Amino acid sequence: MNKKLNTPAEAIQDLQNFGEYGGVNPSISDSSTFTYLEGNTMEDVFEGEREGCYLYSRHTNPSTSYLSEAISRMEYMNGAILSASGMAAITSCILQICNSGDEIISSRTIYGGTYAFMKNFLPRFNIKTSFVDTTKIDEIEKLISKKTKVIYCETMSNPLLEISDIPKISKIAKKYNIKLIVDNTFTPLILTPSRMGADIVIHSLTKFINGASDTVGGVICSDEEFIRSLIDVNSGSAMLLGPVMDAMRASSILKNIKTLHIRIKQHSENAIFLAKKFKKDGLKVIYPGLEDHPQHNLMKKIYNNEFGYGGMLVIDTKTKEKANILMEEMQNKNIGYLAVSLGFYKTLFSAPGLSTSSEIPEEDRVKMGLSDGLVRISIGLDNNIERTYKLMKDCMKKVNLL
Ligand SMILES: *Cc1c(COP(=O)(O)O)cnc(C)c1O
Repeated sequence: MNKKLNTPAEAIQDLQNFGEYGGVNPSISDSSTFTYLEGNTMEDVFEGEREGCYLYSRHTNPSTSYLSEAISRMEYMNGAILSASGMAAITSCILQICNSGDEIISSRTIYGGTYAFMKNFLPRFNIKTSFVDTTKIDEIEKLISKKTKVIYCETMSNPLLEISDIPKISKIAKKYNIKLIVDNTFTPLILTPSRMGADIVIHSLTKFINGASDTVGGVICSDEEFIRSLIDVNSGSAMLLGPVMDAMRASSILKNIKTLHIRIKQHSENAIFLAKKFKKDGLKVIYPGLEDHPQHNLMKKIYNNEFGYGGMLVIDTKTKEKANILMEEMQNKNIGYLAVSLGFYKTLFSAPGLSTSSEIPEEDRVKMGLSDGLVRISIGLDNNIERTYKLMKDCMKKVNLL
């Protein structure tokens, strides 16, 4: 792979893929299985002795390979494998690494589905997870034992937008020879975890990378050896659990990732504009681009600054009732949609305490400052953000926040 790449956006831009008849987009390989001229060749492929041949689309497919190559280049990693959803990427990755008796140390502020998987599902396989505040590095090291196989965190946590100190966490992971898995869903292009020492980088493609809210999808990026192990016909979790992405979907996401750099810049520009305005208006705003954000300086140190601080913004309305009225009002004013998920071209908002993080028990939510009044907003690609600000301000006034 060409390693002389300057920025993650250029890594994607420099891909040159011709379609079968010289098309400017690669042809879609609409096949579940592939023919062989000789029986011997097929045997070699099955035994993993021959690379670059397609066999069966649960293993790999040319269309999924184009997209996984684009993402592995963006993440400066040597390999990637796609999956049917972000959760499929997370679960197959963990199940590939952990055996019965192993342990995971995870950030306590992670995506609700990931939290539920670790807390409720993995104990069935005798895999135990300790949840910690990964912004406190010492706490991680204290929990490490011989059984620890994985340290898990998100670049920007959901929904509190805390930034993980990946360079420091990776130092600990390397010291004890533990794999560091980082979920980079909130910050594609903005953060490059592999350059800070992450061993595995995961995305839910459902969000910013696809950006059209028309599908779910996921990816695992790592070194070639780990990716090969995931699709090993005898022991790979991705191969045996079978959460593959379809070729048609992979080709549609590939077209969308080509505009990711422009979208991320616009999401970030719009989000910081609103964050500054609402802060000045006296609202409680969480945004990593604001100086009062606890990891603002860390983010400034580690981000690829041309892409800004991301498109996610949180406003604390204090109560569940106010959160609900505000969201209904914003939807009525056509500012965006009251819907979970993020990274869409139109603004999306939800109250994470009541929806995406509801898997986290109330007691734990209180501990982490996850109030029921939080409204998480994924800022859209609005052309005139000043106009949006005025409309949003009217909604805030209606619920007496301003
Ligand atoms: C949405 C999300 C996931 C899960 O992805 P799906 O595509 O919905 O399965 C995982 N991690 C984060 C941070 C997410 O936002």
